[in-house]
This record gives sequence, structure tokens and C-alpha cells, in this order.
Amino acid sequence: MVYVKVVYFLVSVVLFLIIVSGIILAIIDPIQNENNILKNNILQHPQRNKRFSLPKFAKKNEKKGTYHWIHNQEKNIKVLLLPILKKNKEIQEKQISTNNSKNQIQCCDYFDLKLKTDFVYEYIVDDYLSNTPFRVIDFRNRIIQWETYAGDHIFETPSLGNFTGITLSGQNEIGFGSIEEIDNALAVTILFYQCPVPEVAGRCPIFHEIIEFKQIYNTNDYNWSNTGETGTYDTISVILHEMGHIMGLNDLYSSICSASTMYGYGQIADTSKRLIDTQSQRCVYALYSKTTKTKDFKYIFLLFVFLLSFV
Ligand SMILES: [Zn+2]
Repeated sequence: MVYVKVVYFLVSVVLFLIIVSGIILAIIDPIQNENNILKNNILQHPQRNKRFSLPKFAKKNEKKGTYHWIHNQEKNIKVLLLPILKKNKEIQEKQISTNNSKNQIQCCDYFDLKLKTDFVYEYIVDDYLSNTPFRVIDFRNRIIQWETYAGDHIFETPSLGNFTGITLSGQNEIGFGSIEEIDNALAVTILFYQCPVPEVAGRCPIFHEIIEFKQIYNTNDYNWSNTGETGTYDTISVILHEMGHIMGLNDLYSSICSASTMYGYGQIADTSKRLIDTQSQRCVYALYSKTTKTKDFKYIFLLFVFLLSFV
């Protein structure tokens, strides 16, 4: 009988502990929820204005500060990410020669990728925009500025939507927030691109086509305005720079090109870059008037030789 009493005692102790811990949890939980609600009230849309993360396999090009990765091996879809950095005394200017073989314009550099010209791109701007000094009209107008020099109508008027993240979603998107892995970035442009024809010896014989793009403006860590207010970055100049990337232009880091639209550093309260500089105008014109990459003629020639060998 003593044995049964001991079992009863132990069972009651266990039950008592379960009930007491249940009561404690019931009290703590609402406190935690309350804290979350409070946090959510401060950050109106925390899920939108957030810190995004790059895929683990993204590789950094230390020399250029860009990131690249393969999105889909099978379909050969690659990704390039370009940041515009905050001008900082500690950052040493990278001396990259801008007099490369691709063109004769001093402050002009572009990738072997550009927008499809027989196509009109649609895009959305995240509606978190209403919490920022960014305006839909500013995105639209900056794109029109580039279209003028590319000589083509490439973009529709944007609509408001939801930024889904740094991945291929079937939608071109502009969002607000920051990127975990990139310090000092005011904004980033991410280009998903593909070779429109079969590759020859692992190379695309013509320009790659941009199939989708994303842009993120860092409203987490920096203050912005569209009036050049002290202590803020100018939305209009930075949008113009980022749209230059969507056209296929590269950043310029040499101080010789510090007045260029595509200069890779943004300066606080600088509204002097709201128009595309002459060299960048010529640069985008040169890119869109080319149908073939000059340096890749030899690959086309090799393709011919390869095909002829079958005849
Ligand atoms: Zn840039």
C-alpha cells in the first residue's frame, strides 16, 4: 500500500508542475505578443522594409565589389548584383582603367548584357514607397531619360505591388530595405540574364539579354529626400544611376569619372547628377546601337567552322 501511495504522490506532483507551468506560459505569452505588436506599430511594414539576404552561393568580385551567381544551371540563367556605395573617406578609390577596348568614350563601361529591345518591360514598385520620399513618377521619369539615349521605348509605366525578394519571380521589382551581406550600399540593382542563342564554347556569341531585374533602395540605414536636404541622399540622382545599370552600364570608380552618372559612389545631399552626363549618353547609345560584341566575332567564326565541318 505504501508503494501505491508513493506513485499517487509522484503523479500528483507531476500534474501540479504541468498545471503551474501552463499558468506561467499563459501569463508570459500575451506579454511577448504585446511586445511584438508594439514593435510592429513602430515599423509600419516590417516585412517590407527589411534586411534581405543573398543566396549562400553568391560570389563576390573583390576588385569590383559586385556579386554574381548562377540562378539556374540548366537554363543557364546568371545573376549580377551591383551596389552603389556610400562615399566614405575610409574607402580607397579603386583605380580601374576606363579606357578599355570596348569603347572610345573615357567614362563609359558596359557589360556584355543589355535589355531586350523588341520587348516592353513591366515593373512594380513596392507600396512601402508611401512611407518613403521615393515617388513612382521619379522611377518612370529616370527611365525615360535613359530611353531617350538608348533610342528605344523599353519600359511601361510602373504599378504598385509587393517586392518578393532577391529571386526570379516573373516580375521586375523595386523594393526598399537593405542587404545583409553588403555594407555601405545605398542601393543595389540585380540583373538576371541569359544568352538568347546557344553558347559557343561556353561563351555567348552575342549580348546576353536581361530577363528580369530587382532594385533595392536602402531605407533602413540611410535618410533620403527628393529635395537635396542636408544629411540625406538624393532619391532622383541615385534612381538615375541605378536605372543606368538596368540598361547594362557598369559602375565607374576612377575619380576622373566622379561627375559621371555611373560613378560608383553616392555623396550626401548631392543633386548635381539628376541629368545623364554626355559621356554616359554616348555610352548607352553605343551599347544599344551594337548588335554584336566586336570581340566575339571570332566565336561566331568558330561556330561557322564547326557547322561547316558537318556539311
Ligand atoms: Zn552602381
